[in-house]
Amino acid sequence: MPLLAAAARPATCAPACVTHKHASSTAAPASGPFWSRRAFFAGVPAAAAAVKQRRAAHLRLHAVASLNGANGTGNGVHGANSNGNGVVDKREHIHTHVVIVGGGPAAHTAAIYLARAELEPLLFEGWMANGLAPGGQLTTTTYVENFPGFPDPILGADLCDRFRQQSVRYGTKVFTETVNKLHLQGGPPFMLETDDKVVTCDAVVIATGAAARKLPIKGLKEYWNNGISACAVCDGSSPLFRNREVAVIGGGDVAMEEALFLARYASKVWIVHRFGYLEASKVMARRAATHPKIEFLWEHECLEALGGEDGALSGIRLRSNRTDEESVLPVNALFFAIGHAPATRFLDGQLELDSHGYILTQPDSTATSVPGVFAAGDVQDPIWRQAITSAGAGCMAGLEVERWLQNLAHDLDGPAGSAGAPPDARQLNAAWVAEQRLARVLRRSGEYDGEPFEMGSVGSMSC
Ligand SMILES: Cc1cc2nc3c(=O)[nH]c(=O)nc-3n(C[C@H](O)[C@H](O)[C@H](O)COP(=O)(O)OP(=O)(O)OC[C@H]3O[C@@H](n4cnc5c(N)ncnc54)[C@H](O)[C@@H]3O)c2cc1C
Repeated sequence: MPLLAAAARPATCAPACVTHKHASSTAAPASGPFWSRRAFFAGVPAAAAAVKQRRAAHLRLHAVASLNGANGTGNGVHGANSNGNGVVDKREHIHTHVVIVGGGPAAHTAAIYLARAELEPLLFEGWMANGLAPGGQLTTTTYVENFPGFPDPILGADLCDRFRQQSVRYGTKVFTETVNKLHLQGGPPFMLETDDKVVTCDAVVIATGAAARKLPIKGLKEYWNNGISACAVCDGSSPLFRNREVAVIGGGDVAMEEALFLARYASKVWIVHRFGYLEASKVMARRAATHPKIEFLWEHECLEALGGEDGALSGIRLRSNRTDEESVLPVNALFFAIGHAPATRFLDGQLELDSHGYILTQPDSTATSVPGVFAAGDVQDPIWRQAITSAGAGCMAGLEVERWLQNLAHDLDGPAGSAGAPPDARQLNAAWVAEQRLARVLRRSGEYDGEPFEMGSVGSMSC
């Protein structure tokens, strides 16, 4: 699939550039289904100006990338060089179709789909980014028992290794580097920077995950995974905690939900909260308050995790915020339910986030507020936060990127059609999501074969 018409290829382009290698293969159709499809979306007129703008941006950024490193080294990897202003940027310069940022289940699932689609994804798995090792949150747990395909428990770190092996096996190039900066506005192409590389690409998948917030209590390190956890759904049903007393720290909806889940297995659940009131919704608060196995410890702070002779957690030391009195609560498990920190700070406000910092995506999609940029996994999911849901979202992102690149090829290679105001990112995104939905409807009815389609051919079907 051509990504850029051969005629539009900049003279400075290195021959090894992935994008332009593809560009020379086939000529774009003089008029294509893309245009009639776009016209279908009344709010999104076929926007010649937008296409021109994007093509210009593509050439401009591409020229910069080429100038910065004109000596191609294969697979779209360019060497480092001077940028012409006497400033030497020693970083390696690369141009490719798609970059995935993150190293957990979401990132690797997206990579597996994209690598199998021969889109040569580059994946930056980070180096202790957001406080996590490559592999993501699962590297911080012991056994995972709820990931399908593994009838026996598998160590979280081993599962992460398998994700990585599979994406590398199909052609993903993995770099153990943290993406420090992204330049998304005006793209595609987009630009990403690490300490060692500058990468331009036509699509980005953000799968940087989140990190559970932990209280910096004494003994945290010793008893983490040995009684202390931040995921009741993951660890609550462990035989170690069944019919034992456990504690949950927090006062929001998540804390209530975790307590209610734990109450199925534990003999008693203590909700320890530093205030005398809850931040949870009334309905959740009522459910927890009326549960016979749940009891509240108001206005108490947790100071320390205490261990028994077997090296596992046996209790927590608390302090009353009212009286300053200290006490020990004998529990076998402690669950933090004080929120998660999604790894979105490096985005620098370029994508729309919710009030807690999670990336906002379109319903039923991983499309973000910037067309061509997709988000998958815990970084955009404040609700489910599981390895399997992250992998599912990664799969969606991979498939959506494929479609996006296919459409972009039409966009860049197609004719500069009828005039119209350039649609903004949101419109383009909404149109694109609607298009995905229509494809799904058609696929279900057996009318869609995976090729770009003529909207005229489906009559008045609404999507
Ligand atoms: C203790 C614990 C136990 C759990 N147990 C289970 C379980 O048993 N079953 C289950 O289904 N789920 C479990 N979960 C939840 C599960 O781990 C997550 O839902 C899942 O890992 C999320 O995957 P992800 O790909 O979205 O992101 P993550 O796993 O969070 O991975 C994101 C990765 O991206 C990297 N990154 C961040 N910023 C950058 C950057 N700027 N550049 C490059 N890389 C970056 C991070 O370093 C990290 O490695 C558990 C979670 C915890 C904390």
